[in-house]
Amino acid sequence: MVFRETRLISFNDGMSPHIRRMTDTQSQTFSDRLLGFAIPERHCRGRTVRLGPVLDEILSAHDYPTALRHCLSEALVLAALMGGLLKGEGDQLTMQAQSEGGIANLLVCDYRDGELRGYIEHDPARFADGGASASLTTLFGRGHLAITFDIAKTGKRYQGIVPLEGESLSAAVESYFAQSEQVPTRIRTAISSGASGTLAAGLLVQHLPDGEEGRERLHARLDHPEWEHVSILADSLRHEELADPELPLEELIWRLYHEEDQVRVLPGPVLGKGCRCTEAHFEDVLSRFPKEDRREMADDDGMIVVDCAFCSRAFAIQD
Ligand SMILES: [Zn+2]
Repeated sequence: MVFRETRLISFNDGMSPHIRRMTDTQSQTFSDRLLGFAIPERHCRGRTVRLGPVLDEILSAHDYPTALRHCLSEALVLAALMGGLLKGEGDQLTMQAQSEGGIANLLVCDYRDGELRGYIEHDPARFADGGASASLTTLFGRGHLAITFDIAKTGKRYQGIVPLEGESLSAAVESYFAQSEQVPTRIRTAISSGASGTLAAGLLVQHLPDGEEGRERLHARLDHPEWEHVSILADSLRHEELADPELPLEELIWRLYHEEDQVRVLPGPVLGKGCRCTEAHFEDVLSRFPKEDRREMADDDGMIVVDCAFCSRAFAIQD
């Protein structure tokens, strides 16, 4: 094998200015990290992510049945991968799966400046059987997935809605990129849970043949040879490699694409759990309710207790 050391080049295209210091645990296990990459000759770009401690922290806010833990883990990986495509400070990605006739009600995840959060609203009584895996249709019925990109600098919002079809949430996100953005996209995810916690990982790779982002295209060129090659290699990635906490993300990309002339990597942010619930936020929300409604919500002392759906923190607000 001929090793050309110029191939794996580190560069920074301003993917995120909010790079936090890695803790010792994170640098050892390569978890809670996002890595961007680009294969210029193939007009492809990608993101890869591995969630460890941050995932357990988010999941621990609720007592989820196994099937929902897996579903939310996959959703958080997808939120991190898509959020990793954002470049500006304060830009936000929101993913919302609305159920219609499924056994879950609602899934919400978002990503902003390296911070992730998410929850699934469900009726515990309906999960009495407690299966480890439930199909997307069982969970969400004939529901829909809404993906929203909010760009802080321009105040613009881009939203696409696709049916929750296919085998997984990842498949639904792939069809969002194909239908709403006309960008051929391949996504792989892997989830493993063991004694040391849950680990979820993902890889997203996209074809941008015009070399520009956000440009309108008439046809997604899914059969383009340069894209086909990159996509097939993404498919060859094994579940165990993706979810291996000892395998650095750079090495994972190198294993897949080492035959390319050039692969650029963009170190991304260390990820954290971020919830934006504050007393002021809930005061603002409550102020929009009519006075009579607020009185009904309040206890004898005039306090209204509000739970944050993301992190389960309770706030007592004086009416
Ligand atoms: Zn919260």
